[in-house]
Amino acid sequence: MNDFEQELRARLEGLREQGLYRELRPLDSAQSPRIELGGRRLLNFSSNDYLGLANEPALKEAAVRAVERYGAGAGASRLICGSLPPHQELEETLAAFKGAQAALGFPTGYAAALGTICALLEKDDVIIIDKLVHACIVDAARLCGVKLRVFAHNDLNALEDILKWADAKVQSPQSKVHSPKSTVQSPQPKPERSNFTGQRRSRTLVVTESVFSMDGDHAPLRELVELKDKYGAWLMVDEAHATGLYGPNRRGLAEEIGVGERIEVQMGTLGKALGASGGYICGSRTLIDYLINRARTFVFSTAPVPAAAAAATAGTRFVQSPEGARRREALWLRVSTLPSALAPRSSHLPSAIVPIMIGDETRAVEIAAALREQGIFIPAIRYPTVARGSARLRLTLTASHTHADLQELFMSLKALDPGPCALDFGLPGHAPAR
Ligand SMILES: *Cc1c(COP(=O)(O)O)cnc(C)c1O
Repeated sequence: MNDFEQELRARLEGLREQGLYRELRPLDSAQSPRIELGGRRLLNFSSNDYLGLANEPALKEAAVRAVERYGAGAGASRLICGSLPPHQELEETLAAFKGAQAALGFPTGYAAALGTICALLEKDDVIIIDKLVHACIVDAARLCGVKLRVFAHNDLNALEDILKWADAKVQSPQSKVHSPKSTVQSPQPKPERSNFTGQRRSRTLVVTESVFSMDGDHAPLRELVELKDKYGAWLMVDEAHATGLYGPNRRGLAEEIGVGERIEVQMGTLGKALGASGGYICGSRTLIDYLINRARTFVFSTAPVPAAAAAATAGTRFVQSPEGARRREALWLRVSTLPSALAPRSSHLPSAIVPIMIGDETRAVEIAAALREQGIFIPAIRYPTVARGSARLRLTLTASHTHADLQELFMSLKALDPGPCALDFGLPGHAPAR
């Protein structure tokens, strides 16, 4: 065994010892509440396909039509010759859906976050993120190399303290601002900045999720908007787990709370409730034109395949249809049947994401395995997806789950309780044995 192999094997062994080893679980079926896994049929409570669109005929047919008309691949990046009709149609549909001036599609939500954050921020800027934001935002914040500050989850006071600090920094920048080379002073007030011409004020970008991916709770978007306005910061909101589910037009939590127009950068994925694949940014026409020029994950990547863009367009239309409204109602109906011990109602808003907190990584994996034995698939989520020692089962409900599916889930959770796993959820009709 050479040195390379030896080194990697030792690292993998380290992961195993900490209960952090991961492996693929190849499905033998399509995405659905019932999946085939390792020759077994399992009831699936792990998918982000909240409205059951991943396998919906309207989306599949749109993808097939796009392949027939425009081929399997896009052939080039969007800026070369890869901007095909399905991409343009998707962006027009998304902008109209979100009530934004413009939209831009990315290969993934991850790429949307990385490209956008790194395009918006420059040297001397500040990025402030919620402690629990998704890895793509953390990675972007690190990659762009600006000052990174993290505020405690949903803690507005902590955020305001950082905004005050960032504001003071803007008032009295320690770093000398380079004056223009020219000695001739322009009589005109200098236009605010361009990174190519020198002087500009430093900017602060606050980034949060609207519905948090591993906790299912909601960000206080109204207060966040007030705060960023008070300090002249910009706000970017990742609606990955909210698009299609909240608001009168199902645009997301920003619409539900009525602050959509006050958020500079709205981000989301096309791969969760919208049933397809890809990421998007919505906002002003200027923002989108800027990203077309400066977002490196957009500029330097082959355009998404026509089938993905067409399926996402169909998914976006579906979500806006009366059937889309019915699916959302079906989802919230399922969510409402969860016992409050399992899904504490900490907010007036429902959530399809229900974390069952375990703590220890190895134990979480054992409990997930015990549930699989009973035909229930709920994944154990561990570090580095969540903090060390806060491993959990991440239960997600979808509109496609039936009442009977939930009964089966409750029976299986009960069967674990008060067994070796000792989970006590106060499930319906169940008096915990003590
Ligand atoms: C899934 C997810 C993303 C990434 O989107 P992809 O399209 O899967 O790359 C970004 N942010 C959050 C909060 C997510 O849950």
